[in-house]
Amino acid sequence: MTIRSLLVANRGEIAVRIIRAAKALGIRTVQVFSAADADMLAVRLADEAVNIGPPAAKKSYLNIEAVIAAAKAAGVDAVHPGYGFLSENGDFADAVEAAGLIFIGPSGDAIRLLGDKVAARAVAARAGVPTVPGSAGRIDDIAEARRIAGETGFPVMIKAAAGGGGRGIRIVDSMEELDRQFPQASAEAAAAFGDGGLYMEKVITKARHVEVQILGDGQNVVHCFERECSLQRRRQKVWEEAPAVGLPADIRARLCDSAVALAREVKYRGAGTVEYLYDEEAGAFYFIEVNTRIQVEHPVTEMITGIDLVQEMIRVAGGEKLSVRQEDIRITGHAIECRINAEDPARGFQPAPGTITSLAVPDQPGIRFDTMLYEGYTIPPFYDSLLGKLIVHAGDRASCIAKLEAALAALSIGGVSTTIPLHRALAGDAAVRSGDFHTRFLEPWLAAEGEARIAAVSGLETEGQSA
Ligand code: ADP
Ligand code: ADP
Ligand code: MG
Repeated sequence: MTIRSLLVANRGEIAVRIIRAAKALGIRTVQVFSAADADMLAVRLADEAVNIGPPAAKKSYLNIEAVIAAAKAAGVDAVHPGYGFLSENGDFADAVEAAGLIFIGPSGDAIRLLGDKVAARAVAARAGVPTVPGSAGRIDDIAEARRIAGETGFPVMIKAAAGGGGRGIRIVDSMEELDRQFPQASAEAAAAFGDGGLYMEKVITKARHVEVQILGDGQNVVHCFERECSLQRRRQKVWEEAPAVGLPADIRARLCDSAVALAREVKYRGAGTVEYLYDEEAGAFYFIEVNTRIQVEHPVTEMITGIDLVQEMIRVAGGEKLSVRQEDIRITGHAIECRINAEDPARGFQPAPGTITSLAVPDQPGIRFDTMLYEGYTIPPFYDSLLGKLIVHAGDRASCIAKLEAALAALSIGGVSTTIPLHRALAGDAAVRSGDFHTRFLEPWLAAEGEARIAAVSGLETEGQSA
């Protein structure tokens, strides 16, 4: 069935992004919002908007009944979950279908299978994809945890089977620490994710985070190459690129083929990401997890391939075949995305909600700013601090960084502190410029020199503004 109208079950910049894709396809849009979000950009852009409850996400964006009731009342054909919130909730996908609507994403069963990080490791193993050495399944007790740590050696990671967003992960250096942390990790996972299940992985100490974008229509699966997301803080990505820096062609081919094999194993439908750690020195990569949704950093892939991933996921949800064949998907140039958050990088990344007093956005070919902002908008304090993503595309990585520096200098968001100075400092850093970094680069860099560089960049900005 062709989708003629859809409900956006999300907020912020991704809601705006989904509306843009829907409009391009001639689809009517209905935006849900909480009482704190009546003024958000997506509400203004959608054809219709429905209040689904109070500010607390549990009572609005995470409230399955309220979202489905809004969809039914608005008479839409489909629901797009975006990322975060209900996007990786298999029961939500089932509830949408039980209400006679289309869920824009994989089946509830595929979400549950791949969203359970332990079950996903088993699917990967079945598809012949290498996984990080660690436990075969969930770990039932401390004796088993000790046995596995004895096999892999320290440091090891204790991970929550239901974890996500960088949460539910602990690094342990010794048996004594394992004894102490294991019960805590289980209690914490039960409280945070409603599932205390844990598993363990050896820590890959010097690895890059490389992930593969996949698209499936339930029969055919293609990949749209990889992204490099090693620059992370608290295990959350802050800067992403496509393609990965210095990835040998044979490794790229094996990585992308393995992601397709994994997705074929479950007849994947929709957009998804298979995440890996890549140990450059060993020339080895290891599967870590699958995200069964559109990802924050999807635009870098769109820039280098020319594919609109959100339009594609809407089309396949409506029953169409993939519009692209693998042999037609090619990499053109290089793209970088900087996540711009309402946080003060000069003050330990403290959240900084407030009102946008001015907004200047660079407007040139190859520069894209996916955002929820407009002048006069007041950022509510209840949600994620992501304001927008600056994405730059150029012929090669060096010219992309040069273009990014100019774009960051031209991007001005008045009224709140943002992470723009962090990105300016990173774009000017020699290691970042040469591509010489890994997942544990950013935090020590911030402590050693980054904070001073950010302060210097912030100082420049203040002078520039007062001049
Ligand atoms: P991406 O690679 O797309 O950035 P993330 O894992 O950072 O993926 O998650 C994207 C969004 O979803 C973020 O807003 C993050 O906080 C949220 N998120 C993902 N998984 C969970 C989870 N299990 N619990 C709470 N929030 C989550
Ligand atoms: P989430 O579901 O929170 O996104 P992931 O399993 O994808 O959790 O891991 C998030 C990040 O944590 C990775 O990008 C990487 O930086 C780090 N990480 C995860 N597993 C390992 C590991 N076995 N060794 C080293 N770093 C890891
Ligand atoms: Mg992840």
